[in-house]
Amino acid sequence: MLPYSKQSIDQRDIDAVVEVLKSDWLTTGPMVSRFEEAVGNYVSAPHAVAFSNGTAALHATIATSNIQPGDEVIVPAITFVATANAVVYCGGTPIFADVDPDTLLINPQDVVRKITSRTRAILAMDYAGQTCDYPKLKQIADQNDLTLLSDGCHSIGAMSYGRHVPEWVEAACYSFHPVKPMTTCEGGMVVTGDAGRAESLRRFRNHGINSDHHQRARNGTCYYDMESLGFNYRLSDVQCALGLAQLQRLREWTERRSRIAQAYHRQLRDLNFLKPLKNVPGAGHAHHLFVVRWHAENAGVDRDSAIQKLREAGVFANVHYRPVYQHSFYQKRKKQSRLVSCPKADAVYPQLISLPIFPAMQENDVAKVVTELKRIADPARSHRWNKAA
Ligand SMILES: *Cc1c(COP(=O)(O)O)cnc(C)c1O
Repeated sequence: MLPYSKQSIDQRDIDAVVEVLKSDWLTTGPMVSRFEEAVGNYVSAPHAVAFSNGTAALHATIATSNIQPGDEVIVPAITFVATANAVVYCGGTPIFADVDPDTLLINPQDVVRKITSRTRAILAMDYAGQTCDYPKLKQIADQNDLTLLSDGCHSIGAMSYGRHVPEWVEAACYSFHPVKPMTTCEGGMVVTGDAGRAESLRRFRNHGINSDHHQRARNGTCYYDMESLGFNYRLSDVQCALGLAQLQRLREWTERRSRIAQAYHRQLRDLNFLKPLKNVPGAGHAHHLFVVRWHAENAGVDRDSAIQKLREAGVFANVHYRPVYQHSFYQKRKKQSRLVSCPKADAVYPQLISLPIFPAMQENDVAKVVTELKRIADPARSHRWNKAA
């Protein structure tokens, strides 16, 4: 079975993990700050704070943006539910902005339309690994006195219009779940250029307590104060060691993903029953997902049947994502969130298929996926296609 995504683990990862298991510190030890520093360097951010997962990282990002009940945060209609949920955790209201159907990235004009006197922040998401139009979003945020934030769970390391993503935003979040560009089993990170926010993030990760055990040991005291309400959102040293080992290969993996995406683009050119998402010049891309829009009217078979047939043929395709507001939790809150649907997101969602892409994938795996796609599309039509091509 070809999964849509898959982690790469080798002996270097295993050795790194075993070494920490044999050491004194399984958590709150030296690997945490080493991993934070390495990720900060990788994405060109002065401060990095590790979290137990990407959702915790998002929660901390919204909380340290001082989002409070009544505040609105603009998020894309198509993203993983955690992007919007982070706003709800803080009592805020996610306001959904529509996406560009060609890229599934948040549409800046619709962001402008959704701004009200209660809007405090924009939380953009780099769908599939392609970065948002940050120059435009930053201009909108600056003009309206909003905090610009990034859910970079798909895009770690990607450049955006000549800068690293964290250089455009006040904070960016990453996830290290196994399907993401690199893994710590579960894990996350927030990066920021703001030292004050970094300190708040560390406090939020550790119950809202104002010092950690290292600081207390240095100061020769056992006293600590809980200044605000926080959580236990720490990432263990074992996981950070795995993350450090993974990070050594991330650049090479992203390069691999880019070549797989190019192979798909070459082999899927000129088909009328599916269209890959567009790459925007200057946007930068980490190629986390390879997403196509399935045109059922030309394929003669609908998207869900196509996915089912792909799975029967050993290709485990997937869908990213159902528009968040379509979920029953958000439908139930429809009134309080002034929920209006986003027509482009609604129209594109039934077309989405994420095809397999991961570093260990080979060119012949790409060819197999493409062969199956052509076979599944109505034979008479695809025959015409093959002749035309
Ligand atoms: C994976 C993901 C998250 C959540 O990360 P976890 O580590 O699974 O909590 C949030 N947003 C996006 C866009 C993601 O892809």
